[in-house]
Amino acid sequence: MRSSVHSLRTQGSTSATFARSFTGWGGIVSGEWQDGQMTVPQIELNDGNSIPQLGFGVFKVDPEETERIVTDALEVGYRHLDTAMIYGNEVGVGNAIKASGVPRNELFITTKLWNSDQGTGSARDAMDLSLEKLGLDYVDLYLIHWPRPDLDLYLDTWLTMEQLKAEGKTRSIGVSNFHRPHLDKILAGSETVPAVDQIELHPAFAQRDLRAYGAELGMHIEAWGPLGQGKYDLFSEAALQTAAEAHGVSPAQVAIRWHLQNGIIVFPKSNSRQRMAENFDVFGFELSAGEMASIDAIDRDQRVGTNPEEATF
Ligand code: NAD
Repeated sequence: MRSSVHSLRTQGSTSATFARSFTGWGGIVSGEWQDGQMTVPQIELNDGNSIPQLGFGVFKVDPEETERIVTDALEVGYRHLDTAMIYGNEVGVGNAIKASGVPRNELFITTKLWNSDQGTGSARDAMDLSLEKLGLDYVDLYLIHWPRPDLDLYLDTWLTMEQLKAEGKTRSIGVSNFHRPHLDKILAGSETVPAVDQIELHPAFAQRDLRAYGAELGMHIEAWGPLGQGKYDLFSEAALQTAAEAHGVSPAQVAIRWHLQNGIIVFPKSNSRQRMAENFDVFGFELSAGEMASIDAIDRDQRVGTNPEEATF
């Protein structure tokens, strides 16, 4: 399906050849050239809503600095913001949105329900509190942040999320850090396939099995830590350096591009406006099949964050 969002522009190249080759990675994404600029591709979710494939994440963005940093991101051109109740910066995100004057329907806002709020009544209260902090009537995507299988509350929580969607408090619902057994429990006990699963994913931890399962279910994958959170030297990997040199871009841009060409939704974080712009300027080049394969070969099952099965926070 093709769709366009005229306000989402990047400063990429203007090659018509590239535009033709761009549309339809796996048949799920689309982007368009408008006035010589590339729009951020939109991915259609399984509930019919669309999400900009490239966004901006605010994990570990200081609440005191969030309004300024998100204002920079919106000025750079990002229209998809990924926050969470536990980040403590929803107020700053909301203030930046309000000050920006960007129409609400041109923004895609995700927040997440924290682990201690899992459960029927508490999930509803948590949603209301997040909306209040963000100063919004609805979010575009609400996620269960971690399954916490030891609590055994995520199915009840999910059933509440279905109601919150029906009430219009969130346009889409999804999960984060869910493994196959957690997804299967939700599928067996509810009517809704999560729109997305937001999981740790970067070249050294490529999550092939969950990506394949997502494709089977019609559930899109969002990558957190797409740059490895700076916890390993991703940018020194030969495959990234070689591709970066060939295209005259940075290894970070190559890493983001690898996610995009794999059909993955991605929202790298940076406090620096220069890096925000760099990370957004990823539509003027395309990695070849050979370059994609050499980046695929970096995969070594190297997790940098917590295994969801073992999370106790
Ligand atoms: P990331 O992989 O985006 O890495 C961020 C780090 O990369 C920062 O240290 C930043 O300075 C550096 N960086 C960014 N751009 C760069 C560039 N162009 N060149 C060099 N260095 C650069 O890690 P992240 O922030 O953890 O992940 C992205 C987003 O995913 C988060 O902000 C958050 O929204 C989300 N997230 C979700 C979960 C979850 O459990 N659902 C967990 C972590 C993060």
